Amino acid sequence: MGTARVLVVGGGIGGLALAVGLRERGLDVEVFERAASFGNTGSGIELTPNGVKSLDRISPWLGARVRETGWPSTRHRDSMPILSSDGRLLKSRDLAGFPDKWGAPLVGILRAELHRLLVQAVQRPGPGGSVTVHHNARVTAADCAGEAASVRLADGRTVHGDVVVAADGVRSTLRTTVVPEARTRYLFTSVRGIAKRPAEHSDGFVLVGPAGHFFAEAVDETRLFWTATVKAAEGSWPVKGAERAKADLLELWGDWAQPLPDTVASTDPADIVVTDVHDCAPLARWHTGRLVLLGDAAHPIGPVLGQGANMALEDAAFLSDALARARDIGTALRTYERARSRRANKIVHHSRLIARLGHTTNPVAGWIRDLVIRSLKRREETYRDKQLFGYTP
Ligand SMILES: Cc1cc2nc3c(=O)[nH]c(=O)nc-3n(C[C@H](O)[C@H](O)[C@H](O)COP(=O)(O)OP(=O)(O)OC[C@H]3O[C@@H](n4cnc5c(N)ncnc54)[C@H](O)[C@@H]3O)c2cc1C
Repeated sequence: MGTARVLVVGGGIGGLALAVGLRERGLDVEVFERAASFGNTGSGIELTPNGVKSLDRISPWLGARVRETGWPSTRHRDSMPILSSDGRLLKSRDLAGFPDKWGAPLVGILRAELHRLLVQAVQRPGPGGSVTVHHNARVTAADCAGEAASVRLADGRTVHGDVVVAADGVRSTLRTTVVPEARTRYLFTSVRGIAKRPAEHSDGFVLVGPAGHFFAEAVDETRLFWTATVKAAEGSWPVKGAERAKADLLELWGDWAQPLPDTVASTDPADIVVTDVHDCAPLARWHTGRLVLLGDAAHPIGPVLGQGANMALEDAAFLSDALARARDIGTALRTYERARSRRANKIVHHSRLIARLGHTTNPVAGWIRDLVIRSLKRREETYRDKQLFGYTP
């Protein structure tokens, strides 16, 4: 299937990773991105070993650059503490041994840096295939019945190929072409920022408390990214703007244990992003005809287990191999859907469950949550880590 022309809708993490993987395997790719250029968006991302191994699989060059640019767990001086909001140590995670245990480190990296590396990888010459990225190219529909594979653009053009991959994110335009009944659901609001590394717990830390949790992780020598999940009415925080969101977060959680208040207080509002987070019940189908979903389009997931970007990379690694190796496109898409949806849907279920417990305002449920974190036996944690991090594409 070396001559297939793949149309990728969306130049985000999943779409660009797929484009690199396909080009590395000799296929021609066209990426349609609605934005005029690739911007400097988001805060940071925690790439877990499954995501890092997927990058290695997509392109060893990319895997190596990500380790160099980000902050791999092999450089951590401390283990990562999970604290209650009043500062009690609930649990401590030792991340330094990850490469031995899971075959790759955990890497904290700025989202903009990861995206910049993906763009660089796209621009590198490949062993046969090519990638063309079209900006200002908003896709409004796809025609993929039977053997057809084309996308319609907002400017009126129609582009034909052999297969269409919808990597158009959580608010995917093409998802309902595959699953008409799919609906996203508001989960919580995420406030994210980039701050100076604090003196204490400088590699990263987690605080869990009433109605939310706070996660921070180093991305380089001097900075860490943080994310606070806040339970609030949908739309009520994004309209505030960064400055007001920072003040309100300090008002809400300013009495939580250090280094949370100092971390938030030291963040420049220009480095704060506020978004509502949505997920979607697991989808029964991931493809119809020659249209297939990838990344958040296939499995929108709250950043509870930190798997959104990691699973998009897993999808991209798997689909690159499937399209390059299978004897026909139908077989490749069926293989991809079967293998990937089974894994991703389990993780979506799990995330939803944790999101519910993590945002409880009920003191009894909160006490149970803290007890569960504290008493998680090593065997149980390894079981969850094994499911997530032990995956090798
Ligand atoms: C702006 C932004 C900031 C984020 N920040 C963080 C963060 O700080 N930490 C974190 O863990 N996760 C963050 N996420 C979520 C995480 O990045 C996703 O789980 C992961 O990116 C999934 O990759 P994806 O390729 O499926 O979707 P995305 O990376 O969201 O990419 C989708 C792409 O499709 C494009 N697109 C959408 N519709 C169309 C259309 N109709 N036609 C053409 N193009 C289209 C979008 O412009 C976008 O570039 C962020 C997402 C976004 C969009």
